[in-house]
Amino acid sequence: MKNPARVLIVGFEATPFFKTGGLGDVMHALPKALRGIGVDARVVIPYYASLKKELPQKKIGEMYIRFGKELRSVKMYEGVFPDSDTPIYFLENQRYINLEVTKIRSLEPFVFFDIAVSYFTNWLSMQNIWQPAIIHCNDWHTALIPLLLKSKLQSSIRTLLTIHNLLYQGSASYHVLDLLNLKDEETKGIKHNQPVSQMNILGEGILHATRVSTVSPTYADEISKGRHLELIYAYLQKRKEEKSPDGKVVGILNGIDYEEWDPCHDKVLKQKYGFSDLASGKAKNKQALLKQLNLPDKPTFAFVGRMANQKGLDLLSNKIDDIMKLDLNIILLGTGQPDIEESMRQIARKYKDRFRAEIHYEEEFAHELYAGSDFLLIPSHYEPCGLIQMIAMRYGTVPIAAKTGGLADSIKDGKTGFLFEKDSSSGLLSAIKRALSVYEKKDSFEAMRTSGMKEDFSWDKSAKRYRDLYIDILKLNE
Ligand code: ADP
Repeated sequence: MKNPARVLIVGFEATPFFKTGGLGDVMHALPKALRGIGVDARVVIPYYASLKKELPQKKIGEMYIRFGKELRSVKMYEGVFPDSDTPIYFLENQRYINLEVTKIRSLEPFVFFDIAVSYFTNWLSMQNIWQPAIIHCNDWHTALIPLLLKSKLQSSIRTLLTIHNLLYQGSASYHVLDLLNLKDEETKGIKHNQPVSQMNILGEGILHATRVSTVSPTYADEISKGRHLELIYAYLQKRKEEKSPDGKVVGILNGIDYEEWDPCHDKVLKQKYGFSDLASGKAKNKQALLKQLNLPDKPTFAFVGRMANQKGLDLLSNKIDDIMKLDLNIILLGTGQPDIEESMRQIARKYKDRFRAEIHYEEEFAHELYAGSDFLLIPSHYEPCGLIQMIAMRYGTVPIAAKTGGLADSIKDGKTGFLFEKDSSSGLLSAIKRALSVYEKKDSFEAMRTSGMKEDFSWDKSAKRYRDLYIDILKLNE
């Protein structure tokens, strides 16, 4: 491209600087892939206190922004991702941008960051540093930016809002408008069915963004049919009516970073492997894993993920006695809701010979699990995209997943994995039984692992789709 699209990608996490889940991976891998195909993509995230210790600080400036009745300072820093040439900016304010996203307990930091990003884009172009044509917002945390650009800055910058999880919406009192110095009429809030004093931050983003996307075609379809959440459905409907044909939510499947997730070159693994030595490489990793956890040599099923209701561990609990009657091991790695963590610990105590609940966040152990397990369990009630099934297949581990969202889009039932009807614990049980019967037939099992490994989940395809969407956005008459 002669004039590459200039896109500023905004979010609250980016691997390796700070990661809580899949969004962190996307904020790292997508810009890298976009730059590879000629898009000038850059990233901005909050400058968390915990980051400052590790990063060489290159301050590029300081500005003051109005936040409610006060003027507050924002310091701006510039860096680059360690494994690519992607520039990343960090915004800092001692009071509002300090704690990591998981520790924030009020809305102010999100509102503050969104205002800061909006003025930051102005600042960048005024200093002749760079002028983004599109701001690509991610999730509700950044969903006030489209509204702010239009109403406060009268900016011509276009916006794309990507929804990584519709459940989290940022419900706020109208006090937020005072912080933004906006009037009620300037929002497009949908008041019916809601307390009059409430606004929905993701909803505002849905209504004001130039385009809205989500992270898989099936999830785009599910949410447009109102399958998941009624309240936000009203916003999606209103957008569709007001902005036809661009009101539709576009679904683009995420990819995974093929350099980070590569069993041939994975630094964590003592025994690296590829297609040619898949069976022996996996066997050695499995042996090491089972030895480390003191587990018997049996078909081994793993789970990696947040222990949140969404992830469907209740389906596993419901049928655990039947499942543990089968000849298998189960290893869970995750943290999250204390009630789910506790119920998993209880199961581990009951089946201490073959069930392990590792309740912590540990990247290296996650790599060992993907490499050393035979199967990965993904019983999610819903899954906008999901990265773990793609990582599993890349490592020759067969996913067993609920047929929903990105899981349905990336797993071929009976060929690269097993899909079962979502929300069904008996579906999960019979999928595990199907998996065990394939495991016993060595050739079929090998064929399945190889088919999964051959799938292409690199970011290349998806990055091209984002590039096309950016080009579309720039062509629109607003
Ligand atoms: P979500 O974004 O809903 O959390 P995804 O499947 O999209 O789920 O992404 C999860 C990412 O976080 C994967 O890279 C996975 O390996 C990682 N992950 C989740 N929990 C843990 C954990 N306890 N330890 C290490 N990595 C984890």
